[in-house]
Amino acid sequence: MSDGTIATNGSGKDSQPQVENVIVVGSGPSGFTAGLYTARANLNPLLITGNDYGGQVSITYEVENYPGFPDGLSGPELVEKMKEQAEKFGTRIEFDYVTEIVTERRPFVVRTASGKEYETKSVIVCTGASPRYLNVPGEKEYTGRGVSYCGTCDGFFFRGKDVVVVGGGDSAVEEGLFLTKFATRVRIIHRRDELRASKILQHRAFANDKIEFVWNTVVTEITGDVEGKVSGVKTKDTVTGEEGFLETDGVFIFIGHLPNNELLQGKFHLDGDGHLITDSKMRTNVPGVFAAGEIMDKVFKQVATSVGQGCAAAMQAEKFLADLEDEGFPGFEDPREFVRVEGMVV
Ligand code: NAP
Repeated sequence: MSDGTIATNGSGKDSQPQVENVIVVGSGPSGFTAGLYTARANLNPLLITGNDYGGQVSITYEVENYPGFPDGLSGPELVEKMKEQAEKFGTRIEFDYVTEIVTERRPFVVRTASGKEYETKSVIVCTGASPRYLNVPGEKEYTGRGVSYCGTCDGFFFRGKDVVVVGGGDSAVEEGLFLTKFATRVRIIHRRDELRASKILQHRAFANDKIEFVWNTVVTEITGDVEGKVSGVKTKDTVTGEEGFLETDGVFIFIGHLPNNELLQGKFHLDGDGHLITDSKMRTNVPGVFAAGEIMDKVFKQVATSVGQGCAAAMQAEKFLADLEDEGFPGFEDPREFVRVEGMVV
């Protein structure tokens, strides 16, 4: 696609091209927070949701560790509250998917899957992360036929059945606990003999009669029956090398996430794991493009930290736009250098 196209901001029908102040890409907690803060700064932000509306928290059964909600609330409820608050102050929300950010020209051009184009002075990237795959035979074939990456979405289908969960982090244990509401037995298969999950979740899982642990074990293949549904998993002991087979109806995979960076490859600095690199002010290597949430956070990955990063990115975008105004938009060339944080792993 050419970089010099004049965008018509949105419909393609507008005869009056309008330049956005800021476009937020993504609708998880960082995205809605960036929308809220830039709206309250009078920047009239446009938030483009992406395909996974609400991000990962929207498929979380219960959020118990987000401050302000002592009784917890469901992930979708939290997303709706965040959206409502962002919209209340003027964030415009478009259900669309950003396919390209043209950074070689100013203002930037943001293109979407529905064919829309927007000119914008700044962008806040909040594209989040998606589940990591096991990459074993049978995984793709039986996805939706017994293989799942979301207990909240699919747990109901396993009422009275046996399931296994793969992974040893917070997601695996939390989702394993959730699945005990439906399944008769939940076996958590972990490649080590110690969980990565937080102690509180570990205690709950150890105390739950329906949960069993299969330690030092990896899944090497997912098998199916004549009806094309999951029948079990082939396993391998990571210590002895012994191979085994566990009969089961469902395989829930929670082995971490990969940053959603397709949009960013080639023009943005990414680290070895594919996270967008930012400095401590949420700035990427492209002046005017900021980032927040799991696309740039490889350490904390909490709703609370994503919210904080969304807030920080919005405040920096606001400052960037104010400086730009001082310098006289539209002929802007940002002279500032990308600042790399001391000790940053690239
Ligand atoms: P995670 O913490 O990265 O854990 C991934 C787990 O999968 C680890 O136990 C890892 O084993 C295992 N694993 C990775 N690759 C594997 C493979 N190829 N085969 C088998 N096992 C593999 O991911 P997560 O549990 O999705 O959590 C992500 C972040 O979200 C974390 O920061 C977590 O705290 C947060 N989170 C928080 C909550 C909550 O607070 N309620 C809920 C969900 C998630 P090793 O341990 O051996 O590396």
